[in-house]
Amino acid sequence: MIKAQRGTKDIIGQDTLTWQKIQQNAQEIFQSANYSEIRTPIFEATELFKRGVGDSTDIVNKEMYTFCVGGKDKNENSITLRPENTAGVVRAYIEHNISRQSPPQKFWYFGPMFRYERPQAGRQRQFHQIGIELFGVENPTADAEAILMAQEFLKSLGLDDLEVELNTLGCPKCRESYKNSIKEALKPYLDKLCEDCKVRYEKNPLRMLDCKDENCQKIFEKDEIKKVILSDYICEDCAEHFSKVQELLDALNIKYTRNKMLVRGLDYYNRTVFEIKSSSLGSQSAVCGGGRYDGLVQMLGGTPTPAVGWAMGVERLFELVEKVEEKKLDYFVVSKYPKEAIKLCQKLRQKGFSCDFDMQNRKFAKQLEKAAKVANYAIILGEEEIEKGFYTVKNLATGEQEQKNEI
Ligand code: ATP
Ligand code: MG
Repeated sequence: MIKAQRGTKDIIGQDTLTWQKIQQNAQEIFQSANYSEIRTPIFEATELFKRGVGDSTDIVNKEMYTFCVGGKDKNENSITLRPENTAGVVRAYIEHNISRQSPPQKFWYFGPMFRYERPQAGRQRQFHQIGIELFGVENPTADAEAILMAQEFLKSLGLDDLEVELNTLGCPKCRESYKNSIKEALKPYLDKLCEDCKVRYEKNPLRMLDCKDENCQKIFEKDEIKKVILSDYICEDCAEHFSKVQELLDALNIKYTRNKMLVRGLDYYNRTVFEIKSSSLGSQSAVCGGGRYDGLVQMLGGTPTPAVGWAMGVERLFELVEKVEEKKLDYFVVSKYPKEAIKLCQKLRQKGFSCDFDMQNRKFAKQLEKAAKVANYAIILGEEEIEKGFYTVKNLATGEQEQKNEI
């Protein structure tokens, strides 16, 4: 028997109702805040992710589903299943000249993402993300608006107790001296760091702080290292920007904690970064991650455009939300006359009722049993009913029965 691939899941039965609710709430909340939906392809040129997500990230180095298809020049035809959606949205933003519309340009999306990771609770190879991207606004209001949207959406799902962690990465300029201080401090420990961190040390030292290796984290906990990590290195402009973000969050009554170790796993972030976590999720506790990425549009070939966004893991959200109960149908038509039954269902569905009927001409008792399971009312359509043109409607909760001429 062929089974679903490791790290993938079928979403079936009652679970689909909760998935639909998550998607519906997203649509309602984002649309009402003037975000339009964007649906980009699930595969893109490999180059887009190499450049957009960054060469020093785990995603690009270890987790991409990359294929070479047809043609002679394999690199030219190399495609990758999207591991995240910001790069694709930015590609579309540039390709369709969206920057010509007056800013901000606000988008939301929902869809599957693919990462070749070790499957475990809260970590799959095909998973789903809901996210927003907001283009064209440099000022801190956009950062606050993005975080507000995440909070509003979570609230709509009954999740109002999650923890927002906030940090600023500064700009490339102020980060430069910070990177050097961190490298300087870690130099004596270089051979004790994990293999990945040895590479990060050269390519993107800040990303070391995001390392999941216990040994590395222990080194970062050492007093002389911690002191450097926690030092204030942010330039005046970035500090001012960050303090305005916090001021706005306070005005919105959004609680957050500062986490100076929060650097996020992607290369493109600058200034504000944040994560939203739930302690009830165990070790994969992050539901949402995001931040500002002012350099990305230009890096991918567009005109310089500030931007901010986030992505939420839908599987992790699913674990947290109250599950939607299956609703019963309004009617189930019980009849040995399938033609009459299907015609009645056509009429009822056109009127907006939910209903079903028996297609196999089963015994009356069997049909009624099924009706009681799936519907609130049975409509009995026997010989007499058809001849005289009325319906016998049975309330399946109380057993009460009445004759009606119209439904
Ligand atoms: P993590 O540290 O858990 O690997 P990440 O930094 O790789 O997260 P992002 O790229 O920021 O995650 O993605 C945003 C959100 O998408 C995460 O907070 C998480 O909820 C979800 N997510 C990421 N990778 C997976 C996965 N493999 N399976 C399920 N959900 C995921
Ligand atoms: Mg990851």
